[in-house]
Amino acid sequence: MGQGSFYITTPIYYVNDVPHIGHAYTTCAADVLARYHRLLGEKVLFVTGTDEHGHKIEQAAEKAGLTPQELVNQVVLRFQDLWEKMNISYDDFIRTTEPRHVEVVQKFFSLLQERGYIYRGEYEGWYCVPCETFWPENQLDERLVCPDCGRSLERLKEESYFFALSRLEKPLLEYFESHPDLVMPESRFNEIVSFIRGGLKDQSISRRGVKWGIEVPGDPEHTIYVWFDALINYLTAAGFSQDERRFSEFWSQVYHLVGKDILRFHAVLWPAMLQAANLPLPRRIFAHGWWTVEGEKMSKSRGNTVDPNRVIADYGVDRFRYFLMREVSFGLDGDFSERALISRSDSDLSDNFGNLVHRTLNMVWKYFQGEVKKPAVYRDELWEKTLEEAYSGFSFFFDRFAFAQVLENIWKLVHLGNRFIEQKAPWKLAKEGEKEELVRVLYRLLDCSRILAVLVYPFLPGTASKLWKMIGMEGEISDFSLSSQISWEAGPDLYRVGKPVPLFPRIGDKK
Ligand SMILES: [Zn+2]
Repeated sequence: MGQGSFYITTPIYYVNDVPHIGHAYTTCAADVLARYHRLLGEKVLFVTGTDEHGHKIEQAAEKAGLTPQELVNQVVLRFQDLWEKMNISYDDFIRTTEPRHVEVVQKFFSLLQERGYIYRGEYEGWYCVPCETFWPENQLDERLVCPDCGRSLERLKEESYFFALSRLEKPLLEYFESHPDLVMPESRFNEIVSFIRGGLKDQSISRRGVKWGIEVPGDPEHTIYVWFDALINYLTAAGFSQDERRFSEFWSQVYHLVGKDILRFHAVLWPAMLQAANLPLPRRIFAHGWWTVEGEKMSKSRGNTVDPNRVIADYGVDRFRYFLMREVSFGLDGDFSERALISRSDSDLSDNFGNLVHRTLNMVWKYFQGEVKKPAVYRDELWEKTLEEAYSGFSFFFDRFAFAQVLENIWKLVHLGNRFIEQKAPWKLAKEGEKEELVRVLYRLLDCSRILAVLVYPFLPGTASKLWKMIGMEGEISDFSLSSQISWEAGPDLYRVGKPVPLFPRIGDKK
């Protein structure tokens, strides 16, 4: 059960936000993983979506003269449009206002109630309205402002439903001890474990004053706290209580990608909720880092947020995707600047990758009018060894979500290809009439382009498809499996190639 399947999630994004580089980053990484696992021949469920409840939405809607539902219906498009531009191949887009989700949240709430993990009590505490968070006193100083956003807190006292998180402290710790890769990277794992060791308190999980939310079953005066509601989206999308087949296929293989700012919700509250419901915990929760912009923290007030739409309009989607995945080791913080994007893209994509392909196709036209037959003798130890190394590194780092290192491994082939051209000097072979050797060289370079197209496909799907067609391959890359293509035996008997069009014209020359 669940073997050969892969379920990858992004957080559901707060619908009233304007999509920025952080959203683009998580979603791009999830897309790369989804595409990779599809190439492995696995059944993939890739889910993203939007978090649409809560007091802030209620307020924003009122200000705009709309109902909350009207507002969220409008603003959800910002995300859906961006994902289309970014070539995000999600299988499901979940919105927390959908009836299927409301039903699952209420079922889950009732289940925890039946199992004795939810009780009614009274909550009093300091509450940040914009952040929709109660803050414990030990995290506040005398100013009584929100540690997250810096705004004044309000004292709230209300009847509330509580989730008995404290009872799960021990089971959680035991689970973490026997699953050292539950949270990655390792530094985050340690951070979460020491947080749990510090003691867990029961959590208030309902609000009386907030109307725009999912009602507590049987008590319509209360709505369910947005975080509790939002986390359950992962169950809804997997078909929990609604589609048993889907659920048994995917739930045991769920991987969550999150920004480090929301790791606690995902690595403490969420696993505890699942334990309380007696459901399997995620396979992995990976927390990635933050992006600064030109060395500074990104914020609305500084006006330095990066609009992914603009980056894509200026540089193209694949340069953007490549930069996000290559520039920083996944898990660490990174810095975004156009200068860095241009230099990364010009050196890796234009001068190396694009140049290799372009020179190859040009020579195929120049010497053989666009056609190269598979040579009779076609073995080369160096190429075989390099592919083997590159591919094993590729798989090894993919399993660890180490995208930058995956790309480094792919580029071993790119570099070998470029060196090979210099060494073999096909122009000399042509001059000296060494036709057989020239065929071997050009066939090898085309074969290398074919393999590269497949390897870069998860990262650069648009470019990979373009390259695939340019070298005359039939069908779509996604029709093939990795294992059928990553071999020097898998090339066609004849390459009949199209006219070369530069994949990545240099930007630096223009700017
Ligand atoms: Zn706040």
